[in-house]
Amino acid sequence: MEKTTFHYQPMCSAPHCDAAAVYKVAAPWSNGKSRELKNYGLACEAHRDSQLALAQLHRQGLKLAEGETIGPVGLYELAAGKRDAELARLPDH
Ligand SMILES: [Zn+2]
Repeated sequence: MEKTTFHYQPMCSAPHCDAAAVYKVAAPWSNGKSRELKNYGLACEAHRDSQLALAQLHRQGLKLAEGETIGPVGLYELAAGKRDAELARLPDH
């Protein structure tokens, strides 16, 4: 795997945590024309499960506009220089 340096260091979104983020918490979103990831925050190794649970709560309360679809929230491995669409999704557990 290619090693690259982050231009900036993404941090975990959990309150009072200043650890480096390892995962993006996101759900695949589409409006029928374009697809992207709806971002629910970033998580370090220690907070990935709690951040995922929090995002799943937010996801349930989300109101979608007509034509919009959103998939289940999951964890995506952050990788420097990669677009959202290229991030690897961790298997759901
Ligand atoms: Zn954290």
